[in-house]
Amino acid sequence: MDFDLSPEHAAWQRLLREFCEAEVKPFAAEVDENNSLHWDSIRKMKDVGLLGLDVPEVYGGIEIDAIGVAIAMEELGRACGSTALSLAAHNGLGCSPIVRWGTQAQKDKYLPLLVSGNYLGALALTEPGAGSDLAGGVQTFAQDDGDAWVINGSKAWITNAGISPVITVLLRTDRDAGTSGFSMILVEPNTPGVSIGKPEKKMGLKGSPTVMIGFDNVRVPKDALLGTPGDGFRQTMEILDGGRIGIGALSIGLAQAAYEEAIRYASQRRAFGKPIIAHQAIQWMIADATVEIEAARLLVHQSAWLRANGRPFSKLAAMGKLKATEVAEKVCHDSIQIHGSYGYSREYPVERIYRDQRLMSIGEGTSEIQRLVIARRVMEEFS
Ligand SMILES: Cc1cc2nc3c(=O)[nH]c(=O)nc-3n(C[C@H](O)[C@H](O)[C@H](O)COP(=O)(O)OP(=O)(O)OC[C@H]3O[C@@H](n4cnc5c(N)ncnc54)[C@H](O)[C@@H]3O)c2cc1C
Repeated sequence: MDFDLSPEHAAWQRLLREFCEAEVKPFAAEVDENNSLHWDSIRKMKDVGLLGLDVPEVYGGIEIDAIGVAIAMEELGRACGSTALSLAAHNGLGCSPIVRWGTQAQKDKYLPLLVSGNYLGALALTEPGAGSDLAGGVQTFAQDDGDAWVINGSKAWITNAGISPVITVLLRTDRDAGTSGFSMILVEPNTPGVSIGKPEKKMGLKGSPTVMIGFDNVRVPKDALLGTPGDGFRQTMEILDGGRIGIGALSIGLAQAAYEEAIRYASQRRAFGKPIIAHQAIQWMIADATVEIEAARLLVHQSAWLRANGRPFSKLAAMGKLKATEVAEKVCHDSIQIHGSYGYSREYPVERIYRDQRLMSIGEGTSEIQRLVIARRVMEEFS
């Protein structure tokens, strides 16, 4: 148990550990094999609060603080990478912008649907030609046409887009205004002209659906705009800062799962007359993983604490994500090493966990972009 958890956070963690052990982890291999989320488990998440972490109670959520969100993402990550990624996207990217900037009518319409257990939310930023460089690369455009916006363009790699009642889309509403020309618009996927692609065939996180979206003269009403026109880029940066805490925590969950598998296996497997955990080389890998996981968890929790207390957290969130994703890579690698050939087999969970963690240093800002964010903040501090 972490020294920094309050009794309420510790109780939340115990509740989620129990829930995920019973309702999420047992289906993780099936979710991966079948390329499909386990919807019975997702529906049960409504009662636990996992579908509305940021959502006020009046709409069916629990509006927990950032430390509570980090705990939830770690527990989900420990149980199933695919489910955790879809839940991270649902809460941090799907629900959060509507909670923050939605009008009363937008909140009334979409938040109850989003927490119902029948859908998972989505945010569409990335395009075929724009990932890290959204400001320079986003081409999707909404033309002002009197009482409507007319949207043309495409989005790529969007988690949950085919299973969301509404997609928040980052696009340009003014081509000549630089980063002040971006806005966010809410688009229902069944609107004429919207096409949702087939799920991408991925290395891991196979149960979490990732799709392309096409917009061909898509007309949406003027009041589908989310927040203030021209504010889309700033809104995106704010959402990504928060999302990084979630992906950092999710990565710690994946690392923790691989670590527990390694210790369990090393205690049973024998070589040279003793359990392999009695060999010093194995102990060193376990000792290193123990230190690194705890260090990453402290960084992620520190960024969550800053956010929960209304303090600037952007630099710490980037540091936590960078550290946690690199730790997950190393710990999962070593866990396979400890398993020997069995770790390379689909019969053991570490093979799946290793594939699942690989996305974490790419999605919601690559490691290179995290380093840029950290360096920029440091330069600001020293200027
Ligand atoms: C499973 C999955 C789920 C996803 N879900 C979503 C989602 O729900 N919504 C969404 O909008 N997007 C989503 N994405 C997209 C993801 O966020 C982007 O792939 C990511 O931001 C990286 O963008 P890119 O792939 O275009 O890489 P690029 O930006 O083309 O980068 C390629 C390489 O160049 C490096 N690079 C780029 N710029 C610099 C620089 N200035 N300095 C140094 N190195 C640099 C990058 O670090 C990377 O190594 C998802 C992707 C995947 C795979």
